[in-house]
Amino acid sequence: MSVDDCIFCKIIKGDIPCFKLYEDEHTLAFMDINPANDGHALIIPKTHANDLLSIEPDSLAAVTMTARKVARAVSGTVKPEGINLMQCNGEAAGQSVFHFHMHVLPRAVGDELKMNWGLTPGDMDAIGKLAERIRSNLEA
Ligand code: AMP
Ligand code: ZN
Repeated sequence: MSVDDCIFCKIIKGDIPCFKLYEDEHTLAFMDINPANDGHALIIPKTHANDLLSIEPDSLAAVTMTARKVARAVSGTVKPEGINLMQCNGEAAGQSVFHFHMHVLPRAVGDELKMNWGLTPGDMDAIGKLAERIRSNLEA
C-alpha cells in the first residue's frame, strides 16, 4: 500500500476528519472511532512508517512521549481502572492500518477485552464530547 492510500496519512493532511486530542511537530493523537472502551485513543507519527520494524527511533520516541501525555489526560477524564498501551505489527498480530500507531486503551476489571477485539463503530457525538473533555485535561 502506498503512502497516498494510507488513511492515517490522510488524517494528518486533513483530508479525513478526526477527533483530534493533541498535535506537535512529530505526532498526532486522536480518538479511535471504533472504541474498544470509552476514551480509546491513537497516537501516530507524522512521518509514515508501516510498523515497529520500520519506524525511525526518534519518531518512536516522540510517539511514546505523546502516548504518555494522552494516557494521563485519558486517565484524568475517564478514570479507568487500568490502561493498556498497545501496538500491533502485521495482520496476524491484529494490525489493520499499516501506519504505525499506539493504542491508548482504557481498561476495566471484567471488561473481557480480547487482544484482537472486533471493530464496532462508536457513537460519534459521544466520542466528540469525550475528546473535548480529554483535551481539557492535557498537561502542558
Ligand atoms: P490496528 O488494528 O492496531 O491496526 O488498529 C487500527 C485502529 O484504527 C482501529 O482500532 C480502528 O478503529 C482505528 N481507525 C481506523 N480508521 C480510523 C479513523 N478514520 N479514525 C479513527 N480511528 C480509526
Ligand atoms: Zn501513513
